[in-house]
Amino acid sequence: MTAALRVILGDQLSRNIASLDGLDAAADVVLMAEVMGECTYVPHHPQKIALVLSAMRHFAAALQARGVTVRYVRLDDPENSQSLTGEVARAVRALKPSLVVATAAAEWRVLRDMQGWEAAASVPVEILEDDRFLASRAFFKDWAAGRQSLRMEFFYREMRRAKNILMEDDKPAGGKWNYDSENRKKLPAGIKVPGPKRFAPDEMTRDVMALVEKTFPKHYGGLERFDYPVTAKDAKAGFADFIKHRLKDFGDWQDAMAADEPYLFHSLVSAPLNLGLLDPLDLCRAAEAAYRDGSAPLNAVEGFIRQILGWREFVRGVYWLHMPDYGTRNGLDATRPLPEFYWTGETKMRCMAQAIGQTMDYAYAHHIQRLMITGNFALLAGLHPDAVDEWYLAVYADAYEWVEMPNTRGMALHADGGVVGSKPYAASGAYINRMSNYCGDCYYDVSEATGERGCPFNALYWDFIGRHAKSFAQNPRMAMPVRSLAKMAPEKVKGLRARAAHILAMIDQGGAEL
Ligand SMILES: Cc1cc2nc3c(=O)[nH]c(=O)nc-3n(C[C@H](O)[C@H](O)[C@H](O)COP(=O)(O)OP(=O)(O)OC[C@H]3O[C@@H](n4cnc5c(N)ncnc54)[C@H](O)[C@@H]3O)c2cc1C
Ligand code: SF4
Repeated sequence: MTAALRVILGDQLSRNIASLDGLDAAADVVLMAEVMGECTYVPHHPQKIALVLSAMRHFAAALQARGVTVRYVRLDDPENSQSLTGEVARAVRALKPSLVVATAAAEWRVLRDMQGWEAAASVPVEILEDDRFLASRAFFKDWAAGRQSLRMEFFYREMRRAKNILMEDDKPAGGKWNYDSENRKKLPAGIKVPGPKRFAPDEMTRDVMALVEKTFPKHYGGLERFDYPVTAKDAKAGFADFIKHRLKDFGDWQDAMAADEPYLFHSLVSAPLNLGLLDPLDLCRAAEAAYRDGSAPLNAVEGFIRQILGWREFVRGVYWLHMPDYGTRNGLDATRPLPEFYWTGETKMRCMAQAIGQTMDYAYAHHIQRLMITGNFALLAGLHPDAVDEWYLAVYADAYEWVEMPNTRGMALHADGGVVGSKPYAASGAYINRMSNYCGDCYYDVSEATGERGCPFNALYWDFIGRHAKSFAQNPRMAMPVRSLAKMAPEKVKGLRARAAHILAMIDQGGAEL
């Protein structure tokens, strides 16, 4: 008889996860299930589905090789009930364990289901905290308690101290907590970008890819360029390659964008990290070691560590502090549907076509593309947060609601009432032109705001400021553009408004003309 049924979800692929702690290989069974419910709650990019299923199969095989009994349910198993709750109940009926052990799901939706397993399967269910994150939910709650606003920067400093990362005694290494001001350089023409390490699909991955292709033919994006690492060993090799070849330039060009350069100097760790194949503290320590041994400068190392130790943990804390209410917030009353080009990449706006096109090809775009191109457009055009959330959750290989939603609804759309960001990240074409080389070959003219060829970001930006002028005037970080708009000649404002109205009308008709 099975002693404990230990459930491992698709994003819990860590050998040291709480639910495997104390595993008795002679008596316990590990349950892993590929279920349709998780593949289709949004129309995920086929590369994301292939990545999760292949990584699950590799993880299960590694456990089996160590003598662990794994009940592995494949997506195309005719007995598969196609829901996690259904598979737990089915396994309990078959194996009659005295206990089900699980690690708390990272997403609110799945944790809610998990809390129903005990009733559904008529067996005690022990749900353990997910201690793979560096800040527990209780730590974040304590930190947030009594604060008027939650600012990532202060949370990050606490985390640096708590984990003793980049510290010199009780002071930050180099004397400053933050080197962001050095990390906003435009990419010089002709700079050589070392491509990331690629991982050709093995036989197990190719089997999964064939299954995904057959099962989800209509999902957005292609599988052809799939080359994600699907094991902890490969994920570590990919990260080591980043430390060796790209970390030193990560800071300088962190905010830069370039045509046909999907990755620049970014690490690409989000997809394997969110699956559990990498450990966040290991990543921070490895980056710190590169600073200590002189192979990467402080602005790059601090910038990278802030993303993992700061932003990643902060957005997770915000998510759990405010769910489920967070998922309904629409602070700027945005109502427009998502234009079709988000799903096709077919638009004359070169920056959007580039960001969306590479997303279709690789299920990846780097942070500034997500925030200042597709996110900025959605913000300025007033696209509904539900639609934008669904898109981000569907199209990226690293997307899970706990990290996707605070970034989308909070950081990009400012729909959360200012919890994640103290001001909207709104920008006109001038910012995109400064940080990229997209504009040179664009159909639109970035130096124009009106007329058929005027860059849509320009008119939309001023229209956005005008639409929200009353509330933005109260925000010290937004008061300047509100004042600039107020000082503009009325004829100019009229022209901008008319152009913006025309663009918004095109979006309302699906956006094909844009
Ligand atoms: C609208 C929007 C949606 C996003 N959705 C997701 C998502 O679904 N999943 C996801 O992992 N990240 C998301 N991000 C954050 C960030 O864009 C990605 O983590 C990053 O682009 C992944 O690429 P990378 O691994 O090369 O990152 P790098 O630039 O190399 O950064 C290193 C790591 O830091 C972490 N990180 C960096 N920025 C953030 C952030 N803002 N929030 C949380 N972690 C961060 C990630 O783990 C990332 O892998 C989103 C950002 C925006 C603006
Ligand atoms: S001109 Fe405007 S639409 Fe074209 S690439 Fe530049 S910012 Fe984007």
